[in-house]
Amino acid sequence: MNELKLKQNLKKITIFFVIISFLIFAFGAVASYSLDQVFKDTMYQQINAQAIQYKNSINKKIQSGLQTLYALNSLISFSEYIQPEVFENALYESNNKLVFFRMVYFDTNGDGIRVTTNGDIEKNVKPEDMNENIQKAIKEAWTGETIISDIYYDEGIEKNVIAYVVPVKKDDKVTGVVAASQSIDTFGKTLDNQGILSDNGIVMLVDKNGEVLTSSTNLLNKNIEDVKDLKSIDDKTKDKIISGISNLKSSNIPLKINGSLCYAIVEPVDIKGWSLVIIDSATGINRSMYQNINITRVTSIISLALAIICIFSGYRQIKKSNDNLLKLAYYDRLTGAYNMEKFNMLLDEMWDKQDKNSAVVAIDIKQFKFVNEIFGEDMANKLLYQIKTIIDKNIHKEDEFFCRENADLFFIFMREAEQQKIVDRVNVLISQIKSIVLSRHQQYPISVCCGMAFTSDFIGEKQQFMTRVMFALNRAKLSGKSNNIKFYDLELHKTEQMQNYIESHMQEALNSGEFKLFLQPKFKLQDGSLYGAEALVRWKTNDDKMIFPDQFIPLFEENGFCTKLDLYMVEKVCKQLRRWIDKGYKPINISVNQSKLLFYKENYVERLCNITRKYNISPSLITLEILEGLALNNVDELNNKIRKLKQKGFKISMDDFGSGYSSLNTLGNIDIDELKLDKSFLMIASNTNGHRQRLIMEQIIVLAKKMNMYTVAEGVETKENEQMIKELGCDFGQGYYYSRPISAKEFGEKYMKERKKHE
Ligand code: C2E
Ligand code: CA
Ligand code: CA
Repeated sequence: MNELKLKQNLKKITIFFVIISFLIFAFGAVASYSLDQVFKDTMYQQINAQAIQYKNSINKKIQSGLQTLYALNSLISFSEYIQPEVFENALYESNNKLVFFRMVYFDTNGDGIRVTTNGDIEKNVKPEDMNENIQKAIKEAWTGETIISDIYYDEGIEKNVIAYVVPVKKDDKVTGVVAASQSIDTFGKTLDNQGILSDNGIVMLVDKNGEVLTSSTNLLNKNIEDVKDLKSIDDKTKDKIISGISNLKSSNIPLKINGSLCYAIVEPVDIKGWSLVIIDSATGINRSMYQNINITRVTSIISLALAIICIFSGYRQIKKSNDNLLKLAYYDRLTGAYNMEKFNMLLDEMWDKQDKNSAVVAIDIKQFKFVNEIFGEDMANKLLYQIKTIIDKNIHKEDEFFCRENADLFFIFMREAEQQKIVDRVNVLISQIKSIVLSRHQQYPISVCCGMAFTSDFIGEKQQFMTRVMFALNRAKLSGKSNNIKFYDLELHKTEQMQNYIESHMQEALNSGEFKLFLQPKFKLQDGSLYGAEALVRWKTNDDKMIFPDQFIPLFEENGFCTKLDLYMVEKVCKQLRRWIDKGYKPINISVNQSKLLFYKENYVERLCNITRKYNISPSLITLEILEGLALNNVDELNNKIRKLKQKGFKISMDDFGSGYSSLNTLGNIDIDELKLDKSFLMIASNTNGHRQRLIMEQIIVLAKKMNMYTVAEGVETKENEQMIKELGCDFGQGYYYSRPISAKEFGEKYMKERKKHE
């Protein structure tokens, strides 16, 4: 898997986890909100139900009071038939629940009997003796209506009371009135302990003016006589409550007391314009539900938190394993630096950006193997780690990076376009690496080789670029110098690549006939007739590229392949001559270049003879061109070989005379048939100030003639050249003026056809 893919995966996973976490959060929020809504709704319902319940219980209380009086009515209807004492007792007894403090009965005469819960029985009571509120009610009751009096103060019990007044009817005629008073506080008691309100919740029964008639016991001693006396409630809310009370309108007013949400509820009770006012905290209204909701909320918060923790730890786990994968894939385990793969990826990015202001530096530790062997693996690893640390410290520009390729090879990508700057930076690196001390006892100087290439002078594939860096590094290694820095050299590289190609392909090329025979004619200067030709090799690769001998002959001389190639060329020449002869053409002499290695090869003469014999060619048609330098080493042995060759009939020519360390001595020492004056001779002599050179050439030609040698001038390029060599007395000329080297086939067409013998 590559880094990109891993990162993409991680991105996907991250997004996934974020979405999941978000969903859980959102779900939690929605759940919490709806829980709240449900709580509020339920609370509204409950609180309203509670208010109704209070209302009902007050009504019930009143109804039961009235019921008691209605029950008395039947007793009273018969009062005229019973003894007064019995009636008094019955009156007293009928208040069996002792809910009434006093009871009174007035007959048509206006005579009243009054009983009190403490057992007092008063007779002949007159309505005028009583509180005016009850007087008023009694008066109204004589009209046949059941009446509840306004509140009045009963000094006997020192409490506010109300009175129920019921007419006693006989045959639809009101015959009397019965009234009973009840402490208003008994209503307050019914408001307690209904189970829904909290301990702090209060219930008040108020009249139309907001005056408190009675209240739940927790408010009794607090001197609240009016709704306005409620301390913890703001005026605005009070106004709303009062408005509800005076308008007899059920109201539900949320409010804040000490920061917590509370409700004030006004519920008219349909009696004398009274209303119930309930005030409680939202949480207090239904503690158990609130607790349940809280438990639900806490559990869901905990499960939310757990889910998020699980998700988070899962995510971390995945990220960690992802990081580990990345580490394994892109980091060098030993030093912690990037590995080559990562380096290549980063380099790819730079390549895509077409960055032209950077360089890649390769750093290789010299004799790392030695460090490994002498100091041991641990120490060598330590060295690598220290080098990594040093490089790390020195890579400070943006977008710079480095890696350890393998063993002791580091690559650094530096954003530096100037040679001097990069050399300065690399030198800092080298000096820090040099100062690494491996062991206290033995100070071994660490030295490195550096090769580098600039991105600026290269357009092409990244891989080729790295080959260039390696090429420069190899140059630095080959130089043998310590702490050497080498830049990439294109020409050098091309040469080396060509050499590599040549060396790896030469044998195959020889086998498959890629070496071609080219011929360049030589002309007799006296009459311009064709005298012979020089065989020159051309390498035509199978992709039709032509490689010239200058590119491979020196290499073949070095690697010894020249001996094979030269004999091959001799054979090609013989084969060609045989073809021409068979065609009836008059053969010409052909010169073949011979490497000096051949002269020291055993059986050289025999092998040549074998070839000529194979094609039945007279050795006299073959001239062997040898280089002047050959004579410098071992003249006797050379002369020995030359003698043998000449005995067989071969001709010997000395090539490139005057090009190197020419010496007239050579001419005296070896027995040759032909002297080829190097083209440089002609070049200099044809200059306007080449007078002296001409003199030398002239004398050499004279000398050669005296020693029975022909002279051939090479490199005749112009008519003037030809004119000059003619004047100097040269025998033959060869050069582009006459013809470039051409293929054997072309040569045959051009020069051989006309030499057909006429019988
Ligand atoms: P060389 O033996 O001195 O061959 C003559 C070179 O001069 C040839 O180059 C030829 O093309 C070139 N030449 C001919 N006329 C002119 C001219 O008018 N002006 C100039 N400037 N150059 C001219 P070529 O073919 O590239 O061969 C180069 C060298 O390679 C030869 O130098 C020879 O030393 C070596 N060589 C060629 N073929 C063989 C071979 O089969 N065996 C060996 N051992 N060496 C060979
Ligand atoms: Ca030659
Ligand atoms: Ca030559």
